[in-house]
Amino acid sequence: MRIVLLGPPGAGKGTQAARLAETLGVPHISTGDMLREAVRDQTEVGKRAEGIMKRGDLLPDALISELVAGRLARQDCERGYVLDGYPRTLEQARFLEEFLDRSGTSIRVAVNLEVGEEEILSRLDKRRTCRGCGAAYHLDSSPPRLPGRCDRCDGELYQRTDDLGSAISRRLEVYQAQTEPLIRFYDDRRLMHKVSGSGPVEEVAARVLAATAGARS
Ligand code: ADP
Ligand code: AMP
Repeated sequence: MRIVLLGPPGAGKGTQAARLAETLGVPHISTGDMLREAVRDQTEVGKRAEGIMKRGDLLPDALISELVAGRLARQDCERGYVLDGYPRTLEQARFLEEFLDRSGTSIRVAVNLEVGEEEILSRLDKRRTCRGCGAAYHLDSSPPRLPGRCDRCDGELYQRTDDLGSAISRRLEVYQAQTEPLIRFYDDRRLMHKVSGSGPVEEVAARVLAATAGARS
């Protein structure tokens, strides 16, 4: 099962990808989480990524694709994975297609989470993220049991720098210009499933699972 989750920032990709990956027993691969870990650990990639992410811009395609290729080559990806936040540009989508083609595999389904702009802005404003494991909380709809602490790993919850100020509008702009065209890319390949990302997390999860059912049978 090789699945791509698409959608604007704050649509719920991370939330749904984590659930879907657990249900299917495959890894959840989030380029955003990988980069935030790199920033936290101040690796070479992390030092390069920090300012770009804070502004709400994208990292260079070549750098991110190399990172993803390394991750997908690991053994736990043999039975599939749920990709969240990658691909994000047409160049990345083409790279992924060619990379998988070389090993005789391909993406089986792409799911686009559709959420209106007002809801997105509210979700980004209320999102709190765990410094330890990257889990996302929402101050109203999915608050942590203890304020400021992660339910899963007791890590500290913080507000992402790109969930503040002008980075938000920049990310929405970048999404429209660079990532939205991927809907057409996967549509042309008959892989695209559009799903409403509004409503309770469980209901969205059921829709996402149903959208991937055809590819799993
Ligand atoms: P993305 O990975 O697409 O940027 P997240 O999964 O981090 O989005 O979700 C953004 C915010 O919205 C988080 O605070 C998350 O807890 C919250 N959220 C996710 N899904 C829903 C939902 N169905 N209803 C309300 N809030 C949600
Ligand atoms: P996300 O957690 O998916 O919202 O990603 C956070 C930030 O990480 C983005 O705004 C980009 O700066 C960077 N990033 C994540 N994935 C990619 C990608 N596929 N290509 C380029 N930059 C990325």
